[in-house]
Amino acid sequence: MLRELLDLAVPGACPGCGRPGEAGICPRCRRELAAAPRPVRPRVPAAVSVWALGGYAGARRRLVLRAKEHGDAAAREAIGATLAAGLLDLSARGHLPDPRMGVVTLVPAPTRAAAARRRGGDPVAAAARTAAARVPGLAVRPLLVTAAAAADSAELGAAARRRNLSGRVRPRPRAAAPAGPVVLVDDVLTTGATVAESALVLASLGVSAAAALVFAEA
Ligand SMILES: [Zn+2]
Repeated sequence: MLRELLDLAVPGACPGCGRPGEAGICPRCRRELAAAPRPVRPRVPAAVSVWALGGYAGARRRLVLRAKEHGDAAAREAIGATLAAGLLDLSARGHLPDPRMGVVTLVPAPTRAAAARRRGGDPVAAAARTAAARVPGLAVRPLLVTAAAAADSAELGAAARRRNLSGRVRPRPRAAAPAGPVVLVDDVLTTGATVAESALVLASLGVSAAAALVFAEA
């Protein structure tokens, strides 16, 4: 705890490891974040192929926590930049449409509204906007919301979590489906329930997600 507070007090520390004297992500964390996206099989099967940029540990875990709990802009930027690199890698390997050939729309997985407000805005949407700002041809459309009644699912197991979320991901009111390909993005994949349900809700809007890309797999 003390270390966390000290890290917060250090200006110019690397948001990935807390090492002081760094303007942004340090070279070591940069290397750690540069891993190519890998396909994952979530415990809750999704009607979309799911890719993860790495495990929920080290710099990834720290960045997620800082983006979520402290509303850290540098951490959100780093997550967004890593997502952008992952999308380009997948598109170069033919797993995703090339955004230079036509707009690819990122749909952030939904965050509970109250939780997002507490955390200084939705960290996943913020990371998606950062990714889109870095790659021409990427757009962001927040098509999904969770019902306000959805209990915080962080402590639930796979089955309970799926039950809890069932019917809790909803289309944003007046959400219009984008014309081109869509990629679902999220920060952490645990059971995969959120991704699975989000893909179903997108399908109900007439949107078939080309893939789901998560920053970290727990
Ligand atoms: Zn670092």
